[in-house]
Amino acid sequence: SKTRKISLRYGLIDMKKIITGYLKGNYNDSSDKFETINGDSLTSWNDFSWNSKHYSTSIVIPSEFTSKIKTDGKKSIILDSKIHTITHVLVNASKILTKSESNDIDAYYENGVIHLFDNTSDGYNGCSKMIYDNFENIMNICFDLVNECDCPTDEKQKKQVLEGEEWGGCPKCTFTTNYCQTKNKKLSKKDALEFFSIFKKDKK
Ligand SMILES: [Zn+2]
Ligand SMILES: [Zn+2]
Repeated sequence: SKTRKISLRYGLIDMKKIITGYLKGNYNDSSDKFETINGDSLTSWNDFSWNSKHYSTSIVIPSEFTSKIKTDGKKSIILDSKIHTITHVLVNASKILTKSESNDIDAYYENGVIHLFDNTSDGYNGCSKMIYDNFENIMNICFDLVNECDCPTDEKQKKQVLEGEEWGGCPKCTFTTNYCQTKNKKLSKKDALEFFSIFKKDKK
């Protein structure tokens, strides 16, 4: 069989963060009940931005998986449900492998690369180094998460997916507890499963 490889980089990345709005809601509600307020809609709003450096394991996604993404930049991830879902699952698997707290690792996608970075103010907590050193494991955990999850037939989901219908997954496999621009909507479990089944390593 043909071997498919993903190339990896470990190092410091420079990120520019811009706050362009905020979420409004009650703290004890789930985030999908929150209202998104764009700063643009407020006359008194000024975007707040800062730069920070973070250690990161950066995953170069083979171009056949990213060639359909037309625009790059911060919004591109939510336009492609495949890359979006793959990113969520990578973060979930990384949290399992590193046994870390919910926000110790975060991810962003830009120009064909998914960056899994140490999400602390000083930019280093050791998580991304563990991800780099154990990347084969990460990919296998990713595959198991989506392959072994029994959604959408899970009773608690109370939803049966019909033939041809899109299914985004569930809190046990593809949803993230980190900030998500689409609030865990517009995901594709099927596309993520397809991707991870190509790159998982057969256990010996
Ligand atoms: Zn699931
Ligand atoms: Zn998301």
